Amino acid sequence: MTSSPFPPRSWEGIDDVVIVGGGLAGLFCALKLAPRPVTVISGAPIGEGASSAWAQGGIAAAIGTGDTVEEHVADTIAAGAGLVDERVARSMASEAAERVHDLLRYGVAFDRDLSGALKLSREAAHSQRRIVRVRGDMAGAAIMAALVAAVRRTPTIRVMEGFVAEQLRAEGQYVTGLVARDRRGGLSDRVHIATRAVVLASGGIGHLYEVTTNPPEARGEGLAMAARAGALVADAEFVQFHPTAVDVGRDPAPLATEALRGDGATIVDARGRRFMLDRHPDGELAPRDIVARAVHEAKISGRGAFLDCRAAVGKHFPERFPTVYAACKAAGIDPVTEPIPIAPAAHYHMGGVHVDSAGRTSLDGLWACGEVACTGAHGANRLASNSLLEAVVFAARVAEDIHGLLPNHKMTRWVGSAEGEAPIAPEADGEAIGILRATMTRHVGVVRDAAGLTAALARIEHLSARPHGPEVRNALTAAKLVAAAALARRESRGGHYRSDYPAPDAQRAVRMFMTLDQADAAAEAAASPLELAS
Ligand SMILES: Cc1cc2nc3c(=O)[nH]c(=O)nc-3n(C[C@H](O)[C@H](O)[C@H](O)COP(=O)(O)OP(=O)(O)OC[C@H]3O[C@@H](n4cnc5c(N)ncnc54)[C@H](O)[C@@H]3O)c2cc1C
Repeated sequence: MTSSPFPPRSWEGIDDVVIVGGGLAGLFCALKLAPRPVTVISGAPIGEGASSAWAQGGIAAAIGTGDTVEEHVADTIAAGAGLVDERVARSMASEAAERVHDLLRYGVAFDRDLSGALKLSREAAHSQRRIVRVRGDMAGAAIMAALVAAVRRTPTIRVMEGFVAEQLRAEGQYVTGLVARDRRGGLSDRVHIATRAVVLASGGIGHLYEVTTNPPEARGEGLAMAARAGALVADAEFVQFHPTAVDVGRDPAPLATEALRGDGATIVDARGRRFMLDRHPDGELAPRDIVARAVHEAKISGRGAFLDCRAAVGKHFPERFPTVYAACKAAGIDPVTEPIPIAPAAHYHMGGVHVDSAGRTSLDGLWACGEVACTGAHGANRLASNSLLEAVVFAARVAEDIHGLLPNHKMTRWVGSAEGEAPIAPEADGEAIGILRATMTRHVGVVRDAAGLTAALARIEHLSARPHGPEVRNALTAAKLVAAAALARRESRGGHYRSDYPAPDAQRAVRMFMTLDQADAAAEAAASPLELAS
C-alpha cells in the first residue's frame, strides 16, 4: 500500500470498527474486514436507502479482449476534465478485475455470454465495452442482494439498522466515536459508541436538491459530520446532474438510464425536434454535463425535453429496461409509444471527504469510502460506472489499512448513552429542508453564478441560525460546503458550470480543498448586510 500523507497514531483498548452506511461501500468493507468484528450502522435496513441498490448500469472493468487498464484510465481522465488524479485512477482501474471477482465470490450473478465469459456493455465516454451488468438494468439491486445475504451470513458483522449517525466524537485530531440516534425511538434515544475506527460510507448528497435520483438518505450527513469534526473536504463543488431523470413529479426521480441513449434513443423538445446535435457532435452521447445543461435550458425556456425511445427501443422496452419501464408505466407513460418527459437531476457527488490512497481522511481514526469520499479518481466529472468500482476498490483498501494499522486484540465494546448532548429543537425541520432543496436547485444546480451562489450561502446561513435537529443541521452544513466551493471556483469545468465564467481557466485546473471554517467564513460574508444589500 502506498504511503499516507496522514501518519497513523497508536490507539489502545477502546473499541472495534464502526462503519456508517449499509450501501455497497459499507457492506463490502464489512465483508473485507471479516472475521474481525465490525458494526454497521445504517439509517435504513441494509440494502435500502442506498444509491447502490438503484444502480442501473454496472461496474466498469477493463477485462474484455482488446481492452486495457491504460484505456480505462485515459477515458477516466478525459471525463474528469483536467482534475483526475492519474495515479489514483490507474490504481483503481488496475484493481477492477480483482474486485469483480470478489463480487462473483459473494454471489453476484453478472451477465455472461454463450461461452460463459462475463458479458460486457459499453456506456457513453468509454472507448471499449467494459461494463459488467446484471439482467440489463438490475446491477445495483443484484449486487446489493448478494452482499446483504453475505453480510447476514457473517456472524462477526453486527448490523444496527434504523440507527442514524449524527455526529462524530473527536479529541483534537483523533476520532474517538460517534453519536447515533435510533430512528424508531424518540428523539432522546441516542447512543454514544466509542470506537477505535470509524469508516464513513454514507453515500452522496443528492437530496440536498429538489430533483434527484438519490434516495432520501443521501443528504450529505457523513460529509457534514466529517467536516464538523475538522476533516478536510475536497472538490465539493463538483456535482454530476444526470440529464435524463424521468420528470413525473416523483421524489426521488426515477432514472432513464444512459444505456437508452446508447441504444439510440434521442432527446427532443415538445415539438419533437432533436436538439442535442446543435450542442455537441456526439449528440445525445455528449458528456453528461453538456446534455444536462441542454435539457435544463430546454425546460426553463418552455420548449420542454423528452427522451424518445420509440424508434430505437420500441417494443423491446419491457424486457431490455424493466426498471425504467416499470417507473414510466407507474407514472402513466408508455415509453413504447410515447416520449418520456425528462429533467436533469442531482445524481452523483464527485467531491467529498478528502482521503488518501488508503481511504484515510485527514483525521486519525476516520476513514471514508464510496460516494462520501473524494479520492481524486473522478476529477470534475465521473465517468459512467466508475463509482461502483471506486466504492469496492476503496472499501477493500480501507479494510486492508485498518487490518494493518489497528491490531485486532481488544474488543471491549462500550455503548453508552449520549449524555450532555444538546437537546433537539422541536422545529419545523421539513420546512427548512424544503427551502434548502429549492435553494440548491435554483442557485447551486446545473447553471450557477456568483449572485445566485451568494444568495444560496446567505439563505443557508439564515437557516442555520435557527434551531434544528441534527439531520437538518448536517444537511445545511453539507450544502454550505458545496455552495462555498462553487463560489470559490471561478471557472467552468466538468460538472461545475458558472454562467459568469463559462470557460475553463487553465490557471484553475487544480483540485480545491476546504475546511468547514473556510466555508463558514464564505457563508458569513455572503450573509453580511453589505452583501444582502448589494
Ligand atoms: C439511480 C442511480 C443509478 C446509478 N447507476 C450507477 C451505475 O450504473 N454505475 C455506477 O458506477 N454508479 C451508479 N450510480 C452511483 C452509485 O450507485 C453510487 O455512487 C454508489 O452506489 C454509492 O455507494 P455508497 O455505498 O457510497 O453509498 P450508498 O449506496 O448510497 O449507501 C449509503 C448508505 O449510508 C446510509 N446512511 C446515510 N447517512 C447515514 C447516517 N447519517 N447514518 C447511518 N446511515 C446513513 C444509507 O442509508 C445507505 O445505507 C447510480 C446512482 C443512482 C442514484
